[in-house]
Amino acid sequence: MTAPRVPFCRTEITPGAQQAAVRVLASGWVTTGAESFAFEQEFGAWVQAPYTVAVSSCTAAIEMALTALGLPPGAPVLTPTLTFCGAVQAIVHAGLRPVLVDTDEATLTVSAEGVAKAARNGAAAMVIQHMAGYPVDSVELAAAAGIPEGNVVEDAAHGLGATVGGQPVGSICRAGCFSFYATKNLPIGEGGAITTTDGGLAERWRRMRLHGMSGDSWRRYHRSGTWRYTVEDAGMKANLTDLQAAIGREQLHRLRTWQRRRTAIAARYDAQLGSVRGLGLPPRPAADMHAWHLYIVRIHRRAFGMDRDMVSERLAEAGIGTSVHFIPVHQLPYFRNLLGWDACSELPAADQIFPQLLSLPLYPGLSDSDVDRVCEALAGLAARTA
Ligand SMILES: *Cc1c(COP(=O)(O)O)cnc(C)c1O
Repeated sequence: MTAPRVPFCRTEITPGAQQAAVRVLASGWVTTGAESFAFEQEFGAWVQAPYTVAVSSCTAAIEMALTALGLPPGAPVLTPTLTFCGAVQAIVHAGLRPVLVDTDEATLTVSAEGVAKAARNGAAAMVIQHMAGYPVDSVELAAAAGIPEGNVVEDAAHGLGATVGGQPVGSICRAGCFSFYATKNLPIGEGGAITTTDGGLAERWRRMRLHGMSGDSWRRYHRSGTWRYTVEDAGMKANLTDLQAAIGREQLHRLRTWQRRRTAIAARYDAQLGSVRGLGLPPRPAADMHAWHLYIVRIHRRAFGMDRDMVSERLAEAGIGTSVHFIPVHQLPYFRNLLGWDACSELPAADQIFPQLLSLPLYPGLSDSDVDRVCEALAGLAARTA
């Protein structure tokens, strides 16, 4: 076998971004400063958001968004169970109580019925997640759960580039939380942002990300700055550095092209995998744009003739990397202990769907021939056992 490996992911940092990083390192100012503010402007413009606050991670963004709601300690917050564990840790960090919502069979997100059921004993807020890039409608879900729209926090870690009702995810919400982690659609390595329509909230988050210190306190080491500041609110250490921001600004130039490439790869997978027996394709939104962060297929063990774990192993042997998104959080020991047996035993759809999930390679640098190789390998596994 001489075919090159097809890794599950490969982080692309453009030559321009690499040069920008070196420029910042040589500039004498490497932490939050002018580059970070420019990145906020430019990222906000891309998403069409009125205000953007750059932060250290999406996890921090979710915690900050929830903290700003000022809910009483332990207030219940709905979250999908089929999500990244860090997003649920953020609810706990904010002093609130996660209430898990079962998975919608068709979209792998949550349904209106699902959130209504989870909210039956009351819910103060809700975190929604555009799983794999499939857009979910926060207004519809808030209404179904009986939660004020302002108490919806969007975990948009997968949602960058998607639209809801024709509007970009993050453009019209109170809190849209983005990630620039190495595998995400706009990779910086690490980093995050919160977008909002509320300017007052944006100011609050600017203080919160840096210990609660009064506005522009980063300038205190700058020529134009003063050492004076005040602290009137609780805060955390969650600022983005100029080194990261400079990389992000350059990466942003490529994002439109990258999104088109992701969409083309998804279409190429669809075309070749549609006829493979026992393999379910990812859902497509009726009218809106999918962000195509992940391409998740479902392996139906009986019809395919092999279970997901075996498929993943066989693909690895063929030099093809895959992953699984996600282990439902109620199957993880920490959350089982925290939330209790009862809360973790009422999520049958997630339990049934999880063993089927397989994420295939999807990133702009993946070539058509790489995609074809993945498809041929999958079709070969299915055929061999048919
Ligand atoms: C990656 C991811 C996060 C966390 O993002 P960080 O920037 O690493 O904190 C949160 N939610 C989902 C759904 C993710 O995929």
